[in-house]
Amino acid sequence: MTEFEPRTMGQQFGRRSWAEPWKIKMVEPLRMISREERERALKEAGYNTFLLASEDVYIDLLTDSGTNAMSDRQWSGMMLGDEAYAGSRNFYHLEEAVQTYFGYRYLVPTHQGRGAENLLSKACIKPGQIVPGNMYFTTTRLHQELAGGVFEDVIIEEAHDPASLHPFKGDVDLEKLESLIRRVGAEQIAYISLAGTVNMAGGQPVSMANVRALRELCDRYGIRIYLDATRMMENSFFIQEREPGYSEKSIAEILREFCSYTHGAWMSAKKDGLVNIGGWLAVNDYALFEELRNMVVIYEGLHTYGGLAGRDMEAIAIGIAESVQDEHVRARVGQVRYLGELLTDWHIPIVQPVGGHAVFLDARAFYPHIPQSQFPAQTLAAELYLDSGIRSMERGVVSAGRDPKTGDHYYPKLELTRLTIPRRVYTQAHMDVVAESVKAIYDAREETRGLTMVYEPKYLRFFQARFERAE
Ligand SMILES: *Cc1c(COP(=O)(O)O)cnc(C)c1O
Repeated sequence: MTEFEPRTMGQQFGRRSWAEPWKIKMVEPLRMISREERERALKEAGYNTFLLASEDVYIDLLTDSGTNAMSDRQWSGMMLGDEAYAGSRNFYHLEEAVQTYFGYRYLVPTHQGRGAENLLSKACIKPGQIVPGNMYFTTTRLHQELAGGVFEDVIIEEAHDPASLHPFKGDVDLEKLESLIRRVGAEQIAYISLAGTVNMAGGQPVSMANVRALRELCDRYGIRIYLDATRMMENSFFIQEREPGYSEKSIAEILREFCSYTHGAWMSAKKDGLVNIGGWLAVNDYALFEELRNMVVIYEGLHTYGGLAGRDMEAIAIGIAESVQDEHVRARVGQVRYLGELLTDWHIPIVQPVGGHAVFLDARAFYPHIPQSQFPAQTLAAELYLDSGIRSMERGVVSAGRDPKTGDHYYPKLELTRLTIPRRVYTQAHMDVVAESVKAIYDAREETRGLTMVYEPKYLRFFQARFERAE
């Protein structure tokens, strides 16, 4: 694969600037508390940005999950909620949207993405089976492990190198996968857990060529592929931008083709789905659907609402249709790239190429003097908040958790701090403020000390762990 040459959006789409394909109708005031107040708030939060009160945050880049701004169409759809217990009209609307834009036959709604992961893992993993995937995701892997599965990373090596300019760092290493299948036997593989716009790799896409070849390989061994479609609109944009033969195709066409190589998918609609809550699971196999439809009643709610209000399902149905518009995805990824380019110009170490939903600061390169056991990425998130009230998130050793067998930390190669951009929420001026704050803490990096963990929850520790300054 030839190296990807990063280009500005200006270069890419000709000399004229692009702008967001919407205007602002309603605003929400922001406030910034003083440096002293931020110091107090951060200490009380145990140096964990997840434990800060949102009121104490100025620009909130913790996550792009559920933080989207909905459109006037979606808000008006909320008023059309059919809150019947069974057979809500909004369910049928959502079912139609998933069939139209993703192409799967049977839909099970869930309250959010992890609800779908729970159902899929329970239905499709036998204890001891292996679940190969293109890099782990926190909730996905945990549900697979709780169902008795063992996650095995089969992403290409370039994904672990923040400086590699490979255009599709989310690709599956097909040789690695095939040798795994040969070693353990195809019947020991539960399914392939494939994700678009791989979050933990820095928001890196999977190519169409890779998913096509993956399907051929899996067909030879009778293995199914389930897709985490949470950020598949952004993934489709990268295919349109970088993959030969796709520049004239629409995001919607690319998405449909990509999904056609998989046997089913789940989605946290809180990301690319442009809503604040919701998720779904969709498959083509009727027998599996029957089982999922049965299980959803236990864990989420009846199969025509899955833990969602009718109005939520309506907002997702409309959000899906809006999220595949080329202009929308271009502006969304364009804003992320704008921030990434500012930081790149100032020689601040970030994961390259800039991904779909976030800019990832390379905390190892940022703080080479802080060992990974003192949580450099967690430290960086704390410093950024202290400087300017901007909230980011750790994606490094804290997020990686512990190996359930040995009890040791997983030490991931990537030690990152994520600046995640909510969709349709902040302006370019906000991005300038963010970049300048990162620059300020970068300039002061040599005086910065690491952290020690003083409280560690058993599951998904990054959400609630507490820290103190290291000696
Ligand atoms: C957020 C996310 C999930 C989990 O979805 P929730 O809606 O947060 O439960 C799963 N996979 C990926 C890639 C995600 O980003």
